[in-house]
Amino acid sequence: MDGLVLAKLLKEADEGGYAIPSFNYSDIWDFKAIVEAAEEEHAPIMIASNPLVVAEFGAETCAAIGNVAMVKAKIPLIHHLDHSFSIEMCKECIDFGYPSVMIDASKYDLETNIKMVNAVMAYAEKKHVYVEAEVGKIKGKGIEGNFKEGDDFLVRVEDAVVLSKATHVNSLAIGIGSAHGFYQGKPQLNFERLSEVNKAIDTHLVLHGGTGIPREDVQKAIRLGINKVNVGTIIHCTYMNSLHKELDRVGDNPYTLDVMKKIRDDIKNVVKTWIQTCMTNGRAR
Ligand SMILES: [Zn+2]
Repeated sequence: MDGLVLAKLLKEADEGGYAIPSFNYSDIWDFKAIVEAAEEEHAPIMIASNPLVVAEFGAETCAAIGNVAMVKAKIPLIHHLDHSFSIEMCKECIDFGYPSVMIDASKYDLETNIKMVNAVMAYAEKKHVYVEAEVGKIKGKGIEGNFKEGDDFLVRVEDAVVLSKATHVNSLAIGIGSAHGFYQGKPQLNFERLSEVNKAIDTHLVLHGGTGIPREDVQKAIRLGINKVNVGTIIHCTYMNSLHKELDRVGDNPYTLDVMKKIRDDIKNVVKTWIQTCMTNGRAR
C-alpha cells in the first residue's frame, strides 16, 4: 500500500461527490473496531495515529500494526500520521511504512509552513507517500493548542493558493471554523470560505474536527469540496465512556477480552454512522 492508492481514492471521492473518512485510534482495540466497521460497510477509509500515540508506542510499533492491517483488510485501508508538528516524526513514520503523513506547521508564518511542508514532500515523494498540510487553524482545545473565539483561525484563500503552488502538497486541511474536541453550541462552518478555497486550488481539502458537526453540515462541506473528513474525539470518548460503563456493570476482576466486546461494538456503531455520513453523498455502495 502506498500513497498512490490514496491519491486514487481521493480522486474518486472528488469525482463521486463524497469524502474518505479518517478515524483516529489510540490503541489496538479501537484500531480493530474501526477496521471491522469499515469492512462491514465495504468502505475505503483512513486510520490515523496522532503524535501522542506515536510517541507513546513508537513509530515502529504503530507502523507494524498499520502495515499488517493494510495487507489484511478487506477494504482499501490507508494508515496515516495525523497532525505531526515534527518533520523528524514524519520521516520516521515514512521509513517504517506509513503511506500518508500530515505535517502541521500552521502555527508558524506561511513561509516557515511552506519550508516545513517542502522538507517532508522531498522525503515523501521518493517513496510515493501522500502528504497533508494545514493552513488556517482548527479551533478548540487539543494538540494544536487552545484558540479562543475571535482569534484569526480562518484560512486565507491567498495563503492556500501560495502554499499549494509552492509545495504541490497532496491534500490540505483548512481552518473554516471546525474545532477539535466537543463544540459548545452549534459549530459555525464558513462554507463561503471553503467554496472559495476549493475554486482557487486543485488540492484535496480536508475537514478536521468532524465530531459534533451536524450530518447535514458535513455533507454540505463535502458538496463544496471536502474530500477527507477527520473523526477523532468521538472515537476515544466512545471508547473510554463505554469502558467506564462496562466496568461498572461487570464489577471486579473481569477478563479483558470479555469486557472489550461491548466497547468494540459501540465504537463500530460510531464508525459506521460516520462512514454513511461521508460516503452516501453520491457514491453507490
Ligand atoms: Zn485535526
